[in-house]
Amino acid sequence: MKKYAIKKIGIIERYQEYLPVTERTPIISLNEGNTPLILAEALPGYLGLKNIRIYYKFEGLNPTGSFKDRGMTMAISKAMEAGAKAVMCASTGNTSASAAAYASRCGLKCFVLIPEGKIAKGKLIQAYRYGAKTIMVKGNFDQALEMVKQMTQDGKITLVNSINPYRIEGQKTAAFEIVDDLGDAPEYHAIPVGNAGNITAYWKGYKEYQKAGKSETLPKMVGFQAAGSAPIVLGHRVEKPETIATAIRIGNPAGWQSALAARDESGGLIEAVTDDEIAWAYKFIAEREGVFAEPASAAAVAGVIKLARRNYFQEGTRIVITLTGSGLKDPDYALSFDDLVEVVEPTYEAVRRVVQP
Ligand SMILES: *Cc1c(COP(=O)(O)O)cnc(C)c1O
Repeated sequence: MKKYAIKKIGIIERYQEYLPVTERTPIISLNEGNTPLILAEALPGYLGLKNIRIYYKFEGLNPTGSFKDRGMTMAISKAMEAGAKAVMCASTGNTSASAAAYASRCGLKCFVLIPEGKIAKGKLIQAYRYGAKTIMVKGNFDQALEMVKQMTQDGKITLVNSINPYRIEGQKTAAFEIVDDLGDAPEYHAIPVGNAGNITAYWKGYKEYQKAGKSETLPKMVGFQAAGSAPIVLGHRVEKPETIATAIRIGNPAGWQSALAARDESGGLIEAVTDDEIAWAYKFIAEREGVFAEPASAAAVAGVIKLARRNYFQEGTRIVITLTGSGLKDPDYALSFDDLVEVVEPTYEAVRRVVQP
């Protein structure tokens, strides 16, 4: 019988020379990363952009369905290397799903604090089923993160939120993959901004890869917050952040300063999009592109639409949009549109009436 070599390639193996790992680092991986860069077929035409290519970096295809896995493989591997016994995070959902999965893989205890009632169901069931101790806080993400900071202060439990620098290190590999795929950096990179770890990570990744001679140029980073939780755009904290895009429902981002640095060093911008604009973009990419991402991801698409309408993008350029998480994460939101279901009698005539080719 023929033997097949099953190659285990996660982001640490693929990019170890750019990551703070040694031979002593145990690699805790679920083969994360290597996500597709999908060419947008419908969006440029819809926007009347003739000579501009748009790509979706679809991070919803990571092992737990979001980009958080890139950071988590690093954070958990380094925690294991340091001899940790338990990890903890505050989460709008995807961080807890990812932490729970990677912790279960190596027998670490995992505690997750989530804001009560404001987390998408798919993410909640992941934390449960991967076996994390899940604690609901009667407050928002910012309050939950504050609790986690206090709980982990004495070093007995390792914090795995994106203020853990290893998270950023892992997440920067998405920028590497994009440059590897395109042969250079795109002219623009669009991304949703919540706690602002990811925009920080991409910018770091692009800069390091350029320094290593892998790309000649750097992109302009264009970040988008939801209008109801847009502290960076407003220039002040938002005490009660509100948006349908729960993954970016954050009023006091930990990465605030580094997000501003990414914006300013790259010559980009950070703006807000409304929940209506997010909803529209969310439906468009699913119905017209066949790409199903969660509402927070759609914020970046909504942002690109907004900028295109004011002719922000130059001709002959490429835009990469990070679709941060899978649409399957938030079934309640997906089913909140009343435009799909037809209920009919089980007869040929009844079905025929609705099926009009
Ligand atoms: C975490 C997350 C974000 C926000 O990323 P930050 O690093 O907090 O800015 C956006 N979308 C999804 C799906 C996420 O899980």
